[in-house]
Amino acid sequence: MSYGGHDPKGYGVEDLVLLSTIDLKSVVQNLQLRFQKGRIYTYIGEVLVAVNPYRQLGIYEKNTVDQYKGREIYERAPHVFAIADAAYRSMKRFGRDSCIVISGESGAGKTETSKIIMKYLAAITNVRQQGEIERVKNVLLRSNCILEAFGCAKTNRNDNSSRFGKYMHINFDYDGDPVGGNISNYLLEKSRVVRQQEGERNFHVFYQLVNGGDDNLLRQFGVAKDAKQYYFLNQGKSQKVASINDSRDFAEVQTALRSIHTFAKEDVESMWSVIAALIHLGNIRFIDGDNSSGSVHISEKAALQNAARCLNVTPDELSKSLSSQVVAAHGDIVKKQHDVNAAYYTRDALAKALYERLFSWVVSKINEAISVKDNSRYSKSHVIGVLDIYGFEIFGTNSFEQLCINYCNEKLQQLFIELVLKQEQEEYEREGIKWVKIDYFNNKIICDLVEVPRTGILSILDEACAQIGNVTDKVFLGELDKKLKGHQHYTSRNLKQSDKSMGFEEFRITHYAGDVTYSVMGFMDKNKDTLFQDLKRLLYHSKNRLVKSLFPDGSKSMAEVNRRPPTAGFLFKNSMSELVKQLAQKEPHYIRCIKPNEEKNSSIFDLERVEHQVRYLGLLENVRVRRAGFAHRMPYDRFVNRYKLICQATWPNPRRGQQLRDSCMQILESAGMAQDCVQGRTKIFIRSPQTVFRLEELRTEHL
Ligand code: ADP
Ligand code: MG
Repeated sequence: MSYGGHDPKGYGVEDLVLLSTIDLKSVVQNLQLRFQKGRIYTYIGEVLVAVNPYRQLGIYEKNTVDQYKGREIYERAPHVFAIADAAYRSMKRFGRDSCIVISGESGAGKTETSKIIMKYLAAITNVRQQGEIERVKNVLLRSNCILEAFGCAKTNRNDNSSRFGKYMHINFDYDGDPVGGNISNYLLEKSRVVRQQEGERNFHVFYQLVNGGDDNLLRQFGVAKDAKQYYFLNQGKSQKVASINDSRDFAEVQTALRSIHTFAKEDVESMWSVIAALIHLGNIRFIDGDNSSGSVHISEKAALQNAARCLNVTPDELSKSLSSQVVAAHGDIVKKQHDVNAAYYTRDALAKALYERLFSWVVSKINEAISVKDNSRYSKSHVIGVLDIYGFEIFGTNSFEQLCINYCNEKLQQLFIELVLKQEQEEYEREGIKWVKIDYFNNKIICDLVEVPRTGILSILDEACAQIGNVTDKVFLGELDKKLKGHQHYTSRNLKQSDKSMGFEEFRITHYAGDVTYSVMGFMDKNKDTLFQDLKRLLYHSKNRLVKSLFPDGSKSMAEVNRRPPTAGFLFKNSMSELVKQLAQKEPHYIRCIKPNEEKNSSIFDLERVEHQVRYLGLLENVRVRRAGFAHRMPYDRFVNRYKLICQATWPNPRRGQQLRDSCMQILESAGMAQDCVQGRTKIFIRSPQTVFRLEELRTEHL
């Protein structure tokens, strides 16, 4: 055991529960001290706090894997391996499904942590090198670069920011070897395909193709080796990122695609062709036609032709679908010409839908390759889930996507509160121990603000979207104000005229992690998420097999589609409650990632930023809850083995036939500490951390 309780090595305490004073300052200082010494991991009981080191630490190699394999959490210094191993052991020993929930803001290290966990699980399994299991492991590991290519982008917070949520579960057989898995993806930020803020990029995959695609391929698609030329790729003016090698990544993605058998060669070619089509689509421009008809013309004919070719439709059809819309009105089918704005809107809607569907297709192909084979041996397998989902986010302008992302974080925080408390309580109950409850901020009120039927923000939004007539985003805001006036966590400029930090088209939510001001502009369009039937039909009739398969709903004629599709907000809310349900059924393990600074720097520890995160992640309450009852607990056998040397009566071995629990008390009494401990059914519970320090000191003296 490596308690830093009395901190002989000056690394700070390894479990925040052991701090002598529990306040924000001591917690942050302890994390700082450890960060400076390259000790990025610290526990709160069994919750792992991980500070992003922003440098390679060399602590994930095979020898470290060996140190953690099969060990209890407290036997080694805090490490993400210990958490992965705990999840694995509990699954293997007790057949419990478990999940590892990784949270923290953008750039805090969630995705890296999830990859480290996957690698650890791969490293400790399949010692017999069985072929099928090796295959599954390979797909699980290799698929990652594909998912990142399509789902990650450079943002101002993180060069490799996940723009989708990912819940991956792995199925294990009786022997504890991985036999398959599944990835669920959540709300891809598809608006990024058409729009990027200053300093940011589109999804990596676009730059990979442009920079890494070989000349033949690019010529075939009509794409130049120059991202600057393409509107969908150049808006953020940061096509090159120092930490990213696009052409090398392209090669890696290609290799991965080839190695996963469910990606047919022809489909992979089509996939790149769709990416190329999107690149061209962004360069299509519209100008007003002659005024009388009110119609638009396409000015960039080459972009149109290239896009059409890459999608395997005719330029003429594509042009028509972009510049007009067929609508059903009073039983008649009529053609309506777009103006310039409507045409751009249509182009962007097409690009977003195409990309989103392509992304889902990629995920489904990976899932096909790792789906558990129908085999009775596996039918009762167990699961470890790893959740790596976008962290709490505040941008310059926050829109519908940020609302969804932040709502998702509220849900996870809620789960954390329930499970961490629940677990603690359940253990006390199981062991027959009395304890005191601790108060903490419960964010349920904010979850409700977003999600409850009728008076929740998403519901009000849906209602606004369902209305016919000219309901604008601002009308929607008016509805919010009307229904949410007086809510503790909601305000807007209209409700609080004096607050000039908000615009008149904005509202503000006080999230558990801080205030976020959202602009309502675009909320309704993003929520309705409509793609005109013309476009679906166009792509359904593409000669390209993949493109066609992405738009099965294009087979319907105009007359057949009248039902309103579910809104984006509605779907997201449902997927969140499904996710929370999944997680709640499993034994949870928590990793709380912390971002030490905004500069991606390995030597800066920004006290204020860290303090803020420690506060909103509820770490202090976590420590208090853990301590309110008992700082520490240990099964009797482990306790006796560890401390028997400090008591004459138990060294070198307790009296034959003596109950472990009695030996344990003998040790504690000899050290004068029995009054600080309570006997549970299988474990000894120690109230104050000082007792643990003292035991450790005594042990060191006797060594
Ligand atoms: P998040 O998913 O939370 O947004 P990432 O996991 O993408 O954040 O981490 C952002 C960056 O921080 C990574 O690209 C990497 O450079 C660095 N990083 C994160 N965790 C580690 C780690 N354990 N070791 C080294 N670098 C890390
Ligand atoms: Mg990430």
